[in-house]
Amino acid sequence: MTDSADQRRPRARLVVDLDAVADNVSTLRSRVGGAQVMAVVKADGYGHGMLEVARAARFGGATWLGVAVIEEALALRAAGDRGPVLTWLTVPGEDYCAAIAAGVDVTAYTVAEVAEIAAAAHSVGDRARLQLKVDTGLGRGGAMEADWPDVVAAARAAEASGAVQVTGVWSHLACSDEPEHPANDQQEHAFRRALAVAESAGLRPGLRHLANSAAALTRPSSHFDLVRCGLATYGLSPVPQLQTSAELGLVPAMTARARLAVVKRVPGGSGVSYGHTYTTPAETTLAVVPVGYGEGVPRSGSSVAPVQVAGRRMQIAGRVCMDQFVVDVGDAPVAAGDEVVLFGPGLAGEPTAEDWARACGTISYEIVTQIGGRFLRVHTGSAGSTSTEVGQR
Ligand SMILES: *Cc1c(COP(=O)(O)O)cnc(C)c1O
Repeated sequence: MTDSADQRRPRARLVVDLDAVADNVSTLRSRVGGAQVMAVVKADGYGHGMLEVARAARFGGATWLGVAVIEEALALRAAGDRGPVLTWLTVPGEDYCAAIAAGVDVTAYTVAEVAEIAAAAHSVGDRARLQLKVDTGLGRGGAMEADWPDVVAAARAAEASGAVQVTGVWSHLACSDEPEHPANDQQEHAFRRALAVAESAGLRPGLRHLANSAAALTRPSSHFDLVRCGLATYGLSPVPQLQTSAELGLVPAMTARARLAVVKRVPGGSGVSYGHTYTTPAETTLAVVPVGYGEGVPRSGSSVAPVQVAGRRMQIAGRVCMDQFVVDVGDAPVAAGDEVVLFGPGLAGEPTAEDWARACGTISYEIVTQIGGRFLRVHTGSAGSTSTEVGQR
């Protein structure tokens, strides 16, 4: 690259490889036998860009897309996606009419939600595509087992009246990232009981689904008709303590890079960044990286998170600020404008989002979903190519 091309490179960018996303979906398909793959693209595609990732995931063979809220599903439709989409998180008074008119599957946990959805279907003059969620032990959304027969009966009655078509019955696991945890078996048994109740009430849901990424990769008995994969779609391991992305055949799709803003020599004993929580042990070179917690770089990465500068692994020195952080690069030959990699696929020695998660005491989900702010997000790969600012999310 020439110097002038170098000068034009942006200050900080997130590069999302859409071919990796498509390949990850195709790898997941090959791992789950006959089950369909739903790519979960909520929360702006876990920070990767919902619309771009959705296209790449469809290209890779995802027959379904999953999002949390109705607005996300409508955004997919507005962008031209016409395939099956499921949503699962609402409050009373949501715009079910828009979801029904757009042919989006909505989820009910309660009799009241079934009634609200059926009423919306009447006013739209169309049948709602309805999935029912049972709480098999996560203790979050979904009908409790004791209430399940009533929810099923309400859905059956709404189906008989022509207001809804029950397309699926599903649940969600609490401990799938610990495959040996007894809750997994218990939840699977509870799910089978709930399916039997639905069957005996006359429901014939075409789709029965329970597994997220971790269960899709570690628990074949949980696959049923479809697996809902978020994290693995983006190439990150949902069971990092057991298997890395590479061991699972997945490629992390996101690389976060920036260019050094300032490089300077400082004497030993120099305090670095707010609070002087880091002091240079000897004369050294400090490099300022122009991203901070305003970009979702976790402040808990202060003095612990890894980066790659000049081909070497180094660590953040002192506190992460709103717009910037500092790296003590020692005597490495670096200059302002050089590139620093925060995390990437890990194939060239750079840290991964999983390395950041471990350093920051969190999970890789949070690292990639939070990162954004003033990073310029760019998509590469043949499964689509656009460039967007991610400031407003
Ligand atoms: C987010 C979500 C998923 C995806 O989970 P991963 O662990 O990222 O695969 C699946 N199902 C539901 C209900 C979710 O909310």
